[in-house]
Amino acid sequence: MSALLEVRGLSVDYGKVRALHEASLRVEAGRIATVIGPNGAGKSTLLNAIMGVLPAAAGEVLFEGRNRHGAIESRVAEGLCLVPEKRELFASMTVEDNLLLGGYVHLDWRGRGWTKARDEVFALFPRLAERRTQLAGTLSGGERQMLAIGRALMSRPRLLMLDEPSLGLAPLVVREIFHIIAGLRERGVAILLVEQNARAALQVADEAHVLENGRIGLSGPAATLMHDPRVVATYLGLG
Ligand code: ATP
Repeated sequence: MSALLEVRGLSVDYGKVRALHEASLRVEAGRIATVIGPNGAGKSTLLNAIMGVLPAAAGEVLFEGRNRHGAIESRVAEGLCLVPEKRELFASMTVEDNLLLGGYVHLDWRGRGWTKARDEVFALFPRLAERRTQLAGTLSGGERQMLAIGRALMSRPRLLMLDEPSLGLAPLVVREIFHIIAGLRERGVAILLVEQNARAALQVADEAHVLENGRIGLSGPAATLMHDPRVVATYLGLG
């Protein structure tokens, strides 16, 4: 079966420094794949290169079996979307206007189409519905992450890439966000999840990869990696 996303031998350089070395992974439709690893391992670099925000020095990214060379907007329109680590919301705009911007790649959605998409996001995140007129910059950390995910969903992705959604959030909020991530899979959205919170990521994911020093050193079913002695010792030892 051909994967929804296939990354083959992807390398990325920052100037003369190679930050990602020949990374390969697949994400099947309707599955959650996770990439865990420490600070500076190259996780954001991997996602940004898949999205096309960063150029690849080598390798290729196939989405639905095809190489996509178009602009980032066209990748979004085709069903690939990234929620960046810093969320990058428009702080001085309302929750609702941030959502509206997430749907901009589908221009024919103006009017009722956009309202329908917004209502679906509000059904998934009732907290955002309650705060629809609040400025994004005044939201709590968890609400901001919800808005970032909600805004991405406005583009109707088939594959959603999440860069450290748990970053800076309290444990209870992390649990809520991961519950939402699992719910997205039930709705048929495939997810590529990059996380330092290995325990939470491995619990929700189907497939997992360990990225260290820019190299994927270990890959397998998440349930298997959860019990791999190397993963336990390095990433799950505490708590
Ligand atoms: P974190 O969880 O801390 O964000 P990460 O696993 O996402 O880490 P990256 O942000 O992808 O890691 O960084 C991988 C390596 O590339 C690091 O050594 C980092 O210092 C380096 N790097 C990242 N961005 C740049 C840049 N714009 N210019 C030069 N080096 C960079």
